[in-house]
Amino acid sequence: MVFTIVPRVRAVRAVCRNSFDAASARRQLMPARETEAIILKTFPLGEADRLVSFLGRSSGRVRGVAAGARRLKNRYGSTLEVLSHVQLWYVEKETRELVRIQQAEPLESFHKAQSDYGLSTGLAVVSEVSELVLPEHEVSESMFRLILLVAREVERTSDWNLPLSYFAFWTVRLGGWLPRFDRCSGCDEPLGSKPAFYDAHQPGLFCEKCRRSGMKPLHREARLLAERFTGERLDRIDFEKSMRPIAGELREASLTWIEHNIERRLITRELLEQT
Ligand SMILES: [Zn+2]
Repeated sequence: MVFTIVPRVRAVRAVCRNSFDAASARRQLMPARETEAIILKTFPLGEADRLVSFLGRSSGRVRGVAAGARRLKNRYGSTLEVLSHVQLWYVEKETRELVRIQQAEPLESFHKAQSDYGLSTGLAVVSEVSELVLPEHEVSESMFRLILLVAREVERTSDWNLPLSYFAFWTVRLGGWLPRFDRCSGCDEPLGSKPAFYDAHQPGLFCEKCRRSGMKPLHREARLLAERFTGERLDRIDFEKSMRPIAGELREASLTWIEHNIERRLITRELLEQT
């Protein structure tokens, strides 16, 4: 009898408690969601957890907590590395800004780029820029595809030069911040084959006559590379060593326009100059 009564009492208690828990959980917890995602950044949180910022293909940029992710043995493995491409399950709470990450499965990782200091600096720029330009909870299929394409190319070519130029240029373009490349913003004269000039204080390109002191040049070759970026996919452009300076010029100009529009300096940009 004891064996039958005790479980029944327990069962009744369990039912009462479960229904109570369920009611309060309904108030607090939304159903679990699943999304393909790119990990943008993680920070240590407390002794055992990690705060994770990710770009979900169907959720936009979201911040959440991965419980236990800092423990030596944890269920996330290398899925929380910067720019890892993962399938992610999380639970939203109505009352809190942070979601709770339940599970992450790797879809694609960029081990070489993530573990090499020089290459990981390139990934860090992509991560910082994305984090700053993407509004929370806003789906952005084009930025999702751009980040993935760029991370793949850094991994495949072991070089961030062309991928980062492409990323910075397209981020400016998708942000709607791209100035006219054919005419001077000051006097409206065609720029033709002459160099154009820019700085961090205004969004446009200026001709030789209108340039102010401290402005940097964006030569015609760099403007032509921008045209190629508009029409060709990154993984179909052959990168020759001779393209390095013009890719650098276009990247610098694009990063400057990003900084101008988000009204802050990128921390990772300096690291890039050191690698
Ligand atoms: Zn001018």
